[in-house]
Amino acid sequence: MRCSRCERPAVIDQPYRGTHACSVHFLESVDERIRREFHRQLPRFARGTVAVALSGGKDSAVALRATSGYFARRPTVRVVALSVDEGIAGYRDGTIAAARRLAGELGVEHRVVRMEERLGTTTDRVAREHPEAIPCSYCGVWRRRLLNDSARAAGADALVLGFNLDDLAQTVLMNLVRGEVDRLARMAPHGTRRPGLVPRIAPLAQVPEREVYLYAHLHHLPFDHGECPHAGRAARNLFREVLWQLEESIPGTRQTLLRTRERLLRPGILPGDGAGPGVCARCGEAASGERCRACELLDVARLPVPAPDGP
Ligand code: SF4
Ligand SMILES: [Zn+2]
Ligand SMILES: [Zn+2]
Repeated sequence: MRCSRCERPAVIDQPYRGTHACSVHFLESVDERIRREFHRQLPRFARGTVAVALSGGKDSAVALRATSGYFARRPTVRVVALSVDEGIAGYRDGTIAAARRLAGELGVEHRVVRMEERLGTTTDRVAREHPEAIPCSYCGVWRRRLLNDSARAAGADALVLGFNLDDLAQTVLMNLVRGEVDRLARMAPHGTRRPGLVPRIAPLAQVPEREVYLYAHLHHLPFDHGECPHAGRAARNLFREVLWQLEESIPGTRQTLLRTRERLLRPGILPGDGAGPGVCARCGEAASGERCRACELLDVARLPVPAPDGP
């Protein structure tokens, strides 16, 4: 198979655009899509701090490389990488080591936030004590909370997440199927600011997961291949499989789902991602009800409420 744009052999096919690409044109096309998303999601950003959530996996590795590359010619923009250690044996140590290595190679400041220190527990411990609960349901909420706290503590104006096209399309589909229109409006990338919440952006939004993998591989980025031992119980797995089947039969489904969300976000259709309705009565962070989700879950796990700001 040859590249659709030159004579070189293709390294990947892109059925959603009806093309094949060689390594040169593939890397170029990914860089271009990422650049466009930075431009769209973080317009005219020339001064300040951008935090990058760095888990140590392929997506966040590509997100960190892209962010430091995008702002390399703007010395007035500082990039800082943030990793959360949820305390997951046999998994997190490896990913944190890969994160540290990549940040070192790119010369980016790297901070690690430990759930044990901040919340007084770990995902492994809660999983042992509450086997009935699906670990991702609390682990994900607490990680988002700790990332927001530490991004704010670092003075960040935006928080870059490594969500790829598949991740975001799955989230849109999940929220549509469950009728969660508020969540559909609130998910990253954020178009507007909410008090207390560092706006989250997703520059890999137009890059499918397997292209992120190939990109990381071709650039020899250090990342960890391990899988979280709790991941098998995630509700998302079903949506991942359904979306794979849809994409195979109807190429372009993932992009269509993202466009659908954007159309729904036009004024007057969905509630909008702007106005946070209030603050949590327990910890003072943004909340859509009386208490934020992080505190609700800490209550369920019978844990003390964290201090409002991270390290
Ligand atoms: S897969 Fe679930 S439990 Fe594991 S780190 Fe991710 S959110 Fe946490
Ligand atoms: Zn080519
Ligand atoms: Zn709270």
